[in-house]
Amino acid sequence: MITIHSKRSWLVALLIVCTCACARAQSANPIDEPGTPGEPYPHMPSIAPIGVRTGKYLDVPASSMGPAIDPAKGYRLQDLGRGLYMVTDNAIQSMFLIYDRGVVVVDVPQTLVAYLPHAIAEVTDKPITHIIYSHSHADHIGGTKTLGGHPIIVAHQETLRLLKRAADPNRPLPTITFADKYTLHAGNQVLELSYHGNAHEPGNIFIYAPAQRVLMVIDIVFPGWMPWRRFAVAQDIPGYFAQVEEIRKLNWETLVSGHVARTGTHADVDTQAEFMSDLKQAAKTALATTKLGEGLNESDRANPWAIFDNYIDRVAGQCVNALTPKWSERLGGFDVYIWDQCYSMEQSLRIE
Ligand SMILES: [Zn+2]
Repeated sequence: MITIHSKRSWLVALLIVCTCACARAQSANPIDEPGTPGEPYPHMPSIAPIGVRTGKYLDVPASSMGPAIDPAKGYRLQDLGRGLYMVTDNAIQSMFLIYDRGVVVVDVPQTLVAYLPHAIAEVTDKPITHIIYSHSHADHIGGTKTLGGHPIIVAHQETLRLLKRAADPNRPLPTITFADKYTLHAGNQVLELSYHGNAHEPGNIFIYAPAQRVLMVIDIVFPGWMPWRRFAVAQDIPGYFAQVEEIRKLNWETLVSGHVARTGTHADVDTQAEFMSDLKQAAKTALATTKLGEGLNESDRANPWAIFDNYIDRVAGQCVNALTPKWSERLGGFDVYIWDQCYSMEQSLRIE
């Protein structure tokens, strides 16, 4: 009896081992495989994290959309008053100002340069005499060489420095630079350029048209939308928060902010400021209430990068959860970049 029992036990044991091994081979249980994805963290947000594909992004609210683009033209010309116009494809924006002897263009995006001469020709046959660079980034001024001619190019001195470093023939160097303020008088038209420090990148300026009451500041405010990832890749996040407040307090009627589908209003800037305030608070709370090393594999405790990755992932998850109910239907693209904003915010709060 004992022998039979032992044999049975051995067979049962063998069967269990085989079953487990086969199951593991089939599912490749990732918990046991270093470096492969494991179980989701507890309280994982419903918004897909970075690197996880979603079947369908959230619908964009109607308030985030702009006027339609005529597909035959490919661009839209918006009259901002008294000879000032915005040109856009509803993804990126440029401006031009007509004066008695010519045209001043503000930014020449790579993706708009083919449309700009047509847009200008709709309203004037005067030549382009000046270009103003809002900042050095190629998506906003990389069409300058293609536009041609020999215009005077005005930019901040930091933009000159960055463009010298970039040595990009598509972005010719500015011919006039300034440090704090520069007023461009073109015939009877005026543009006031001013520098408010680093936020998006050094050299990014405010461009104000006083007669039209139009303010152009690029890559800071996103009317109706979640900012592009990581506060639109702001190089100084406290500086970015400060510039949103400055834009909010200035006296203007229309904001040209560089991207998305329409111009901005003061209500748009208020909404973005409110979102950023909620985001800061959510990240602060998550940092204060999340415990370091919870749920970490014991054998990873000697790996400080792993300890922080695990901690920061849980902080970001809590931040996303806190913001989703109020903001997911108010801002276009909330789900696209909310994880990026939470990661960026928690890092800024820890180290800046
Ligand atoms: Zn930029």
